[in-house]
Amino acid sequence: MLRKRTILLVTVCMLLVSCSGEEQTAHNEAFAMDTFVTVTANGKNAGSAAELAIERIRELEGIWSVTDSGSDIYRINHEGSGEVHEETAELIDFSVGISAASQGAFDITLYPILREWGFTGEEYKIPDDRRISELLLNTGSEKISVQDMTVTVPENMQLDLGAVGKGAAGDIAAECLRNNGIDSALLNLGGSITAIGTKPGGESWKIGVRSPFGEENAAVITASDCSVVTSGAYERYFIGEDGKIYGHILDPETGRPAESDLASATVVGSSGRLCDALSTALFVMGSEKAEKFRQERDDFEMLLITNDGGIIITEELAAHTEIAEGFDENVRIIYPAQADAG
Ligand code: AMP
Ligand code: MG
Repeated sequence: MLRKRTILLVTVCMLLVSCSGEEQTAHNEAFAMDTFVTVTANGKNAGSAAELAIERIRELEGIWSVTDSGSDIYRINHEGSGEVHEETAELIDFSVGISAASQGAFDITLYPILREWGFTGEEYKIPDDRRISELLLNTGSEKISVQDMTVTVPENMQLDLGAVGKGAAGDIAAECLRNNGIDSALLNLGGSITAIGTKPGGESWKIGVRSPFGEENAAVITASDCSVVTSGAYERYFIGEDGKIYGHILDPETGRPAESDLASATVVGSSGRLCDALSTALFVMGSEKAEKFRQERDDFEMLLITNDGGIIITEELAAHTEIAEGFDENVRIIYPAQADAG
């Protein structure tokens, strides 16, 4: 089988600081949470604030890692229960809520099935149907219990915060930057973006949404003080011996890679963890269910790219988005649900 994604086991930690008087621009890069992380911060003490933000991300990696034997998640996965850090309890509780709200499209209990497909390592394989059915018996976020700081899962259930951790870490690292006096910064955790304030001159940040079909941008979002997170199978996939593409986002109902009409789902909002969880959930749902889901709640904006290159975008986001040539021919705008005319 063809391995399409090479994980670069490189850790770069670089700090570039340019100063004018006391104002600084710091650009800090690291490899954390299995991805490249960059923090660009502007303001007084930007250099030390950016370093603290990266440190905070590393701490979160340490408690949410599935492979590090000292992590909260490892303990739950191997002992079935454990007292965890507040951040972990909160994130698991939040994830259980999103799982219910998305009618199971988002589910943090898929780790054993992801491992079976090889998505947790590099040895990809297509599991047989019987094995998937067996493993599906031990999934379902509604079976997770969070009581204060104690998390308990049924026997053979294992958790993975991969679909929500980067967004949540972005929120927490942004809070760390703000607490250190930074009101202009851009955090990028492997494509999960959190923008604090605006650029130093007051101009909004420009955030690219990558085309799922190539390296170019499909759209550019102009934004300040928000998170932008994209999910797509193109981020990690393999081509099976049958020639089919198998992506890393699973449909929790079937235990197989989600096959909706979407090539990517981008969510914009004020909470990074919500954007992260929902981008994964919408990708699984497909455009029809995603649109219905959006009509029921208005705490996020979305930009969906369909497999045939079409764009479906919420009205508010459309006003802040420039769609690239080639993607601008097939754009559909979603308007808020009309209140019933009495
Ligand atoms: P994201 O890139 O945020 O969409 O997260 C995808 C990652 O979350 C995958 O690599 C898996 O580790 C995990 N995952 C896959 N499918 C799901 C799902 N339906 N719900 C929650 N997590 C998932
Ligand atoms: Mg996600």
